Amino acid sequence: MRSSSFPKGALMAKKQPLPFPVFPHWYLKDLVGVLRDRKAQVVLLYGDVRCFLPNPTSRPGEKESYLEFPLFLRKALENGRMVLFYDIASGIQFLRPEMEAVFKQESGFQTPAPAGGDPIALARAELQQEKELPKDPEACLRLMDRVIKNTDKVTIVIRSAHFLAPHVGSQGTQMMNERVIIERLRNWSMDQDIRSRGNLVFLLTDEVAKVTEELRQGNTGVYQIYIPKPTFEERLAFLLTCHHPPAFPKGITLEMLVHATQGLSLRQMQEILDETRRHSDALNLSAIKKAKRKVLVDEYGDLMDIVEPARGLEDIGGLEHIKTFLAEVLHGIASGDHRLVPMGITLTGPPGTGKTAIVEALAYEAGFNFVKTKNIRSMWLGESEARMQKLVYALRDMAPVVVMNDEADLAEAQRDSPHGDSGVSERLMKMWMEFLSDPKIRGQVLVINCTNRPDRMDAALKRSGRSDEIILLPMPSREERDPIFRVMFKRHQVKTDITDLTPFVLATSGMSGADIEQVVLRAHRLASRENDGMVTGEILQNTIGDFIPGDNQQQIDMMTMAGLLACRSRRLLPRCTKEMVEHICARGLVPDMDRMVNQLRAHGLLT
Ligand code: ADP
Repeated sequence: MRSSSFPKGALMAKKQPLPFPVFPHWYLKDLVGVLRDRKAQVVLLYGDVRCFLPNPTSRPGEKESYLEFPLFLRKALENGRMVLFYDIASGIQFLRPEMEAVFKQESGFQTPAPAGGDPIALARAELQQEKELPKDPEACLRLMDRVIKNTDKVTIVIRSAHFLAPHVGSQGTQMMNERVIIERLRNWSMDQDIRSRGNLVFLLTDEVAKVTEELRQGNTGVYQIYIPKPTFEERLAFLLTCHHPPAFPKGITLEMLVHATQGLSLRQMQEILDETRRHSDALNLSAIKKAKRKVLVDEYGDLMDIVEPARGLEDIGGLEHIKTFLAEVLHGIASGDHRLVPMGITLTGPPGTGKTAIVEALAYEAGFNFVKTKNIRSMWLGESEARMQKLVYALRDMAPVVVMNDEADLAEAQRDSPHGDSGVSERLMKMWMEFLSDPKIRGQVLVINCTNRPDRMDAALKRSGRSDEIILLPMPSREERDPIFRVMFKRHQVKTDITDLTPFVLATSGMSGADIEQVVLRAHRLASRENDGMVTGEILQNTIGDFIPGDNQQQIDMMTMAGLLACRSRRLLPRCTKEMVEHICARGLVPDMDRMVNQLRAHGLLT
């Protein structure tokens, strides 16, 4: 491939030390590598296609030290003989105006001016010259086809490739003109003439799953390159190059600032920094965090809730054995010993027992981003795969991140799969599994499944490696309710003169942590009406007497048994397991209890 005009500046820049400028790995290794080694002539670039790249011709500190990718491509291809850009809205645009006339001739759109001076033929040729090129993709690609196959040094950049060659999902069918376009692109990717002439086609899309699978399968010559969000080093270099020297308020370091921008593209960083600067001269970390949240919600809000973790393990009452386990995980994260960090954890237990609170505390203590996935099954089935793909890439980009996954969605999707969605759910599950099984995300993406019915969870999801530990959070024991009360008084700054909580701990048997929180808040309200807000023993006793727990005991017992049966580590069992099972047996609400008890015995869990 004779793409001699492709940016050498970038290759040279790599040798320079930080901070100026840092070219991303995908660019240096993947893109430049592919072109240098002539691996492909059609390259599908997806992900952050509007990323900024260092300007290959600028010097440090210059204004235009970074360029948006399409502009960067223009610069990089400056010496090309024929460079054109296409998108369905604007049609074909040329890098230099004189290229248009050449293209019109080479593509046969316009016949060459006749020799001999026949005035009618000349007038006709002039008219043709005035004629505008078509905009519709089929006609444009037909013209490009002639140029790319018959002439040298042609580069075509097709933006929003998903509009030309869309993925239609298992239920839809491609339209005829889309079929023609897809065939043409496939043909380009394998055409030897195009290759030997040193011609290149870039297909750009933000979401690869929106592009037809036919261009992504192994049997085409289309080479795929993912553009991830920038790394720590790239963000640091960008900040220092474009914003040096940033003014920091006291106590804020450059490192903290770079850390806070994790998950953002350089473009988004730029926008946020400009915005925060408009309001104050110094870079303000909390404003940046707030703006980042907004940007991420705009981008990924349809897939996940992005939560700012506000509470750590100190705010969890009881559950000491789980906290000890999590402290080991946190140590693994902090020390970089990722063998100590599980790929995934499943938390089980009845509602209100602190599963969400534990996940939040883990994210808080680790300093990770924290997201809760939403239902990834959209009504428009064909799109749900695209959404899953987007989710998986988003999570990689947001790393380090703690992901709380309400697996019920996926389990449900799995159960539905034979009925009428043509295996979409199975494919969703497979994509999620592949993500969870990727060793590269260990220590960076921590997926926590939360469920109160682990027996209904998909078996593949429970497999070791995807969910290394399954931990039950049961209704709190008597010993645990005391610290939970204390946490709640402190968390909500509720005044109390109670020193001995024993009677209240005894009176709240069968209540969850969430119930106790409610009780304390109600007591506070009552106290505010009766005195200056001081919760006395009498007020607390009355509130407890008035409180009706919401959940049905049979459900709670079944959830607890399902959680116990799913546990894989004796060390992570609740301290009071034996007593708990005895109580469940005595209540007699759970069917098939004997079999379950025998199973627990066989695992040595009731000794
Ligand atoms: P789950 O996810 O298990 O349904 P949550 O974590 O959402 O429950 O808990 C509901 C509320 O109860 C939250 O405010 C949470 O902080 C609180 N909570 C439950 N258990 C505990 C506990 N052991 N320690 C501290 N707070 C708790």
